[in-house]
Amino acid sequence: PIRKKEDSQQLYRRKKNFSNALSLSYSNPIQMQKSAFQYMYDADGNTYLDAYNNIMLAGHCHPKVVRAGQKSMAKLNTNTRYLYNELLSYSEKLLVKFPENLNKVFFVNSGSAASDLAIRMATNHSQRQKVMVLEHGYHGNTRIGIDISHYKYNHEGGTGKQEYILATPMPKAFESGYPDNGTAGDFFAKQTREQIKANTNQIAAFIAEPIVGCGGQVPLANGYLQQVYQAIRVQGGICISDEVQVGFGRLGDYFWGYEMFDVIPDMVILGKPMANGHPIGAVVTTTEIAESFDNGLEFFSSFGGNPVSCAVGEAVLDVIEEEGLQEHAKKVGDYLLGRLKDLQIEYPEILDVRGSGLFIGIEMGSTHEVSSTQLAARIKNGLRESHILISTDGPEDNVLKIKPPLSFNLLDADKLVFHISQQLYLFLKS
Ligand code: PMP
Repeated sequence: PIRKKEDSQQLYRRKKNFSNALSLSYSNPIQMQKSAFQYMYDADGNTYLDAYNNIMLAGHCHPKVVRAGQKSMAKLNTNTRYLYNELLSYSEKLLVKFPENLNKVFFVNSGSAASDLAIRMATNHSQRQKVMVLEHGYHGNTRIGIDISHYKYNHEGGTGKQEYILATPMPKAFESGYPDNGTAGDFFAKQTREQIKANTNQIAAFIAEPIVGCGGQVPLANGYLQQVYQAIRVQGGICISDEVQVGFGRLGDYFWGYEMFDVIPDMVILGKPMANGHPIGAVVTTTEIAESFDNGLEFFSSFGGNPVSCAVGEAVLDVIEEEGLQEHAKKVGDYLLGRLKDLQIEYPEILDVRGSGLFIGIEMGSTHEVSSTQLAARIKNGLRESHILISTDGPEDNVLKIKPPLSFNLLDADKLVFHISQQLYLFLKS
């Protein structure tokens, strides 16, 4: 009862100082106190398996990352108008991860600041104004961020599509009626290419995630991106890959999501896992685009590229390397995908299992009188009672999202599959 009182006091204080536009997870919110690697601990002493937080790529409170931040914060904090080694050392390590032509970096403090800057740079470089986006995509919370996020502007309470935005269908092979062997990609690319043609020489940028997170963990149909990138470039536009969710090795086979589709973007935006929860984002682009941005107007971010953030970001890259996190994501991800596909054979309520590495979506169908949205919510809430954290998303909110810290292991995968199957069993029995 004391704890319940504490929770209700916190809820009261939240309501007093915050808008309800900020949401809480679960109808019975969790008061978190501590976290370590793939675990989170609530105020009642319960341990949760975190199968959801892609930001904590190296693991919650990874000691090497924490120490790097502590040490650096106690030594120097300043901005990019001074020379200091942390900026250079980190940017060199980061840029090595990209192909040779992506060789200039701009540091900011969030994924939103990165997508906003990327659109500004693309508009400036191309001297074109329109921006093409995927339906159901999300790229940020700034004004431009919302403009380019169908997920937000098209939502209840959103302001609708701005005139300069071209929205094109999300190329979701599953549901298209075509196999994902290039046929589905061709089908979607044809529509998008027609839209590009109708707006030729007016499109500054095309922005997309390689696997659309908010759209319900949807990998772009094979072959789609190559055709669209080409059509955008032919008419003078810039191709932007939003790697905020999928980047930094989570996909197992690929360090960056665009590698999945054998393309090289002109600009990449980074955020979330980049510094394991420390607020940092970046735009990585070509010399050419970076040079045209240098048109007399200074670019300055008070915090972007500060030595503390750089030290933390560098520690994350070191941990990925030292602990073989990309290979680990492949091993555990392949295993988990396989086990979930087996579960799909057992339960036709699972319509699709998709993803790469430890970035996985499970699309639920409807059954009896229960909608797919309700079924997904039941599983999410049931898992929470078993102290496992996941989320749901997608246009119908019927996709279970799994994107854990990369310390997530084979036993965790077994535990997650067991509890999902238990939830399905209990639900179907009831
Ligand atoms: N792009 C994508 C794909 C995202 O998922 C997000 C955050 N959910 C952003 C951009 C914006 O990042 P931030 O919340 O750090 O501003």
